[in-house]
Amino acid sequence: MFDSTYCPDANRYDGRMRYRRCGRSGLMLPEISLGLWHNFGDSTPIDRQKGMIFKAFDLGITHFDLANNYGPPFGAAERNFGPILKQLPRDEVVISSKAGYIMWPGPYGEWGSRKHLLASLDQSLRRIGVDYVDIFYSHRFDPDTPLEETLGALDSAVRAGKALYTGISSYPSEQTREAIRICEDNRWNRIQIHQPNYSLLNRWIESHLISCCAEEGVGIIAFCPLYQGLLTDKYLNGVPPGSRHSAVPHLLRDQDLQKPVLEGVRKLHELARRRGQSLAQMSIAWILRDPHITSVLCGASGIDQIVENCHAVNHARFSAEELQEIDAILAPIKMPHSLWAAD
Ligand code: NAP
Repeated sequence: MFDSTYCPDANRYDGRMRYRRCGRSGLMLPEISLGLWHNFGDSTPIDRQKGMIFKAFDLGITHFDLANNYGPPFGAAERNFGPILKQLPRDEVVISSKAGYIMWPGPYGEWGSRKHLLASLDQSLRRIGVDYVDIFYSHRFDPDTPLEETLGALDSAVRAGKALYTGISSYPSEQTREAIRICEDNRWNRIQIHQPNYSLLNRWIESHLISCCAEEGVGIIAFCPLYQGLLTDKYLNGVPPGSRHSAVPHLLRDQDLQKPVLEGVRKLHELARRRGQSLAQMSIAWILRDPHITSVLCGASGIDQIVENCHAVNHARFSAEELQEIDAILAPIKMPHSLWAAD
């Protein structure tokens, strides 16, 4: 059983975690944030969830990322997080939530309409038991709803005091620039953060999105930095029971774990060892090498992973030779199409 009288570590800001400014906003985010997409629904014991969240907070992780439909079932992660948050100092925590993927049946249960976004935000606030979230995202670009409507809804959320900052997730670079212009033209609250998928095995944001966000002063928080566990030592000797691939094979798929990919992962693992890091740590550090990245949004199934991953911030520099070696290892690897590569 986890001790219910949790008292945060008094040394949590002693420098083990570093914080980066989110674009040109005043918001500082930890270099590593914790995502609650998996392992925080109703199938994970609450004591285990508490253990991970409290450990993360003790290590200086102040940012916890949610969405309306994180579970299972949909909504459970927000509902479970609410009581845990009560044991943390609210003003030291940045909570995000999102709306846009399927949440409830019928024409208003997903995508980017004002109707969906604002109803979903109200539901999220009720589930978490808070008056506001720190960041509210449009979870995906909706090609059938005018961007003005989606962005106007985000602006309304801020004006109503239900969100402090707004973000977009997985928007292509062209629509990202357009979104920023629309907010400026209408004098709406500007988008402060973009949440794209980014890892050694999915580098789509390098062609346009990073420079777009850098020029526009928008922060970037990279999700699935470990490719859901593939960029760790977890799959080097087969698929362990209970792992993400064994539990949700439609997300981390058989085709993601092909032989050439695993051969590349093994070479990356060797390079990480030479650098004195685990592969998970090197994969996170490699993202942090870019100063335009604000935070790396990791998931975890246990406390040990959070502890291991946080050490990545201590060794995030790469020599030119190491970067070349990484590029050479990755060059022959062709990953199957990712749902989250938007450009
Ligand atoms: P990830 O960090 O790439 O993968 C996390 C998984 O990797 C863990 O659950 C664990 O899987 C394994 N792992 C982590 N550290 C490990 C270590 N040191 N050694 C071995 N295995 C390790 O990220 P993710 O969980 O897929 O996503 C992170 C967050 O991004 C989500 O929680 C969510 O907040 C956000 N996200 C956003 C979107 C979006 O559309 N905006 C989409 C997806 C995710 P096992 O269970 O196998 O141990």
